[in-house]
Amino acid sequence: MACKADGKDRKIFIDLLKKYSQTDQIKPFNSYTDEVELTFIGDGNLNDVIRAKCPSHSVIFKRAPPYIKCLGPEYPLDPSRGQIEYQALCVFSDLAPGSVPRPYFYDEEAKTMCMEDESSYQDYRKQLIGGTCSLGAVEKLAREIGQVHNRTHVSHVGEHSFQQLKQKFPNTELVSLTEQFIFTKPFDKSDSTNRLSEDISCSLPQIYDNPRVLEAANFMKGIFLNKKECLVHGDLHTGSIMVNGDETKMIDLEFAYMGPPAFDLGVLLANYIFSYYGHMSIPEDNDRHRKFAQLMIEACKLTVRSYLEEMTSSVGEKQQYQENLMTEMAGFAGCELIRRVVGAAPVEDLHSTYSRQDALGAGTRLLLGKDNISSVDKLLVIALMLV
Ligand code: ADP
Ligand code: MG
Repeated sequence: MACKADGKDRKIFIDLLKKYSQTDQIKPFNSYTDEVELTFIGDGNLNDVIRAKCPSHSVIFKRAPPYIKCLGPEYPLDPSRGQIEYQALCVFSDLAPGSVPRPYFYDEEAKTMCMEDESSYQDYRKQLIGGTCSLGAVEKLAREIGQVHNRTHVSHVGEHSFQQLKQKFPNTELVSLTEQFIFTKPFDKSDSTNRLSEDISCSLPQIYDNPRVLEAANFMKGIFLNKKECLVHGDLHTGSIMVNGDETKMIDLEFAYMGPPAFDLGVLLANYIFSYYGHMSIPEDNDRHRKFAQLMIEACKLTVRSYLEEMTSSVGEKQQYQENLMTEMAGFAGCELIRRVVGAAPVEDLHSTYSRQDALGAGTRLLLGKDNISSVDKLLVIALMLV
């Protein structure tokens, strides 16, 4: 729910507008300091997101408190994540212009950054749930991720620049959060943060009673933590993407780090698969929803095809590299598919028992079959059991 920033908060943001009043994008606020509207708009879990609006202009502030916002001060979290996010926005904006909101400034003292307001865009997950998807947007997004991965890739930038990138984007507490909430807790049946509800109980033995599934998830954790190839977004689910027709913006880059490129791709593909299963399990207006589910299959194929056209970097022999990328993508997609059902952070797309059971089946098959997956077509055949 949007609410006004007042009192102490209002003063903080007005002071920031004054402090950066010479910055081009802040100048329009100079004649309106008393009338600026400041509204909390964020529905995110970790940070405060505030829109500052004057009659002619608006910008977005994002402030990182020293704890996890939705849990409270007893759950500390390094506020320097705001700076990492700002730096990542700068790199993405430079290497793939238009792929993210334009970054304006980061204020160290206030742990707050300021960026372009994308209020004409909408949440991609909500659009997909509502049955809207433009293949133009799918392609643009895939190309831009490919461009960022390619242009920050170890084989592309040279050793010196790569070391600098590694220093700029270290493994932070946020990378540990991902490690815990995607790769560790969901695969530990006794972890108290999991949601092992009754309706999916018949699907659980395939995960928890099969050491090969648990080993595969653990193997993917090792790749997530140790394989440093390029700058990755680090949290590229469909709620971290905003769309407007064929236009897209990636947001929420605070999880950015130097990691394996397959991680972004795997998470994104898993989220298209959530949408696939969400629509497949709606009995009313069956034709329309099945058609949309088919479009999600197209979206997965187009994503990988467009991505590979941009991401031409490789370590070692190219074809082998790409085949391995697909294997890792399958493994990461498998982890994301499973953790969104059993783990602490569900997705709205999976609104029915059927869709959740299907997602668990797909995730399990991908983890078990990943070593034989060397193309997106095969990934989809195995995940969705297409014949
Ligand atoms: P958190 O890190 O707390 O999850 P997000 O970066 O995901 O925060 O932002 C939360 C919400 O705020 C987004 O879902 C979006 O609705 C809104 N938002 C974030 N950045 C922008 C922006 N640049 N322009 C418009 N809305 C934004
Ligand atoms: Mg976030």
